[in-house]
Amino acid sequence: MDGAIRRNPFMWELNLVATCLASLVGIMLGEEEDRWWWLPDESGAFSVKSSYRILENLVLLDVGLSAEEEGIFVKLWKSPAPSKVVAFSWLAFIDRIPTRSNLAFRHILANGDPSVCVLCGQGEETTSHLFLHCDVAVLIWRKVMDWLDINFITPRNLFMHFVCWSEACNSRRLLKAFWLIWHAVIWAIWKERNARIFFLDNQKWNLYVNKEGAHPSRSSAKELPNNYKRIVLIKDR
Ligand SMILES: [Zn+2]
Repeated sequence: MDGAIRRNPFMWELNLVATCLASLVGIMLGEEEDRWWWLPDESGAFSVKSSYRILENLVLLDVGLSAEEEGIFVKLWKSPAPSKVVAFSWLAFIDRIPTRSNLAFRHILANGDPSVCVLCGQGEETTSHLFLHCDVAVLIWRKVMDWLDINFITPRNLFMHFVCWSEACNSRRLLKAFWLIWHAVIWAIWKERNARIFFLDNQKWNLYVNKEGAHPSRSSAKELPNNYKRIVLIKDR
């Protein structure tokens, strides 16, 4: 580069100039018009996939996953489940979902709000409790496993559960279907947990069975999960 600086540079600028010149060594200027080039993708074009890879690496570094756990991450995304469902499982894997335990840890729960599990009313609502070790979750998995004719002892976390679940499938052809069911159970437990907290919380709402057969009000019907369609929510006075 053949450049000249019109004034004498300050001492602190000399280093910057040297660094700039060093980074330009070997660069040949061509006749082509300048254009943007997205470095994370070989084609130079921006892609969501390459962006995801960058973020994934950041997250993996942040949570410090083992090589085995990183391998499971890859399998997680191969499920045919809707992407928002898989994304939720992914967040649950790295314990980044708003369980009551996580909310309490971040001081988001209001003073006096319990961090106890809303499904069983006993254990602390951690991710592994809610999806694996809660009495309600155990019953749900038991039913699903009986249906699929598989069996294994509940491991300590979701990673290991996903591994056991995958290994319990003895047919490669059915593996994706197994993964789909796994995501569906996780999603269903989370939806039920939210329904109980946000729609059926006895501290704020009283439950009335709709004896007259009238439909719930438009707003509550829209928010309620399907299995509660015959229940009316009326705010306690
Ligand atoms: Zn529980």
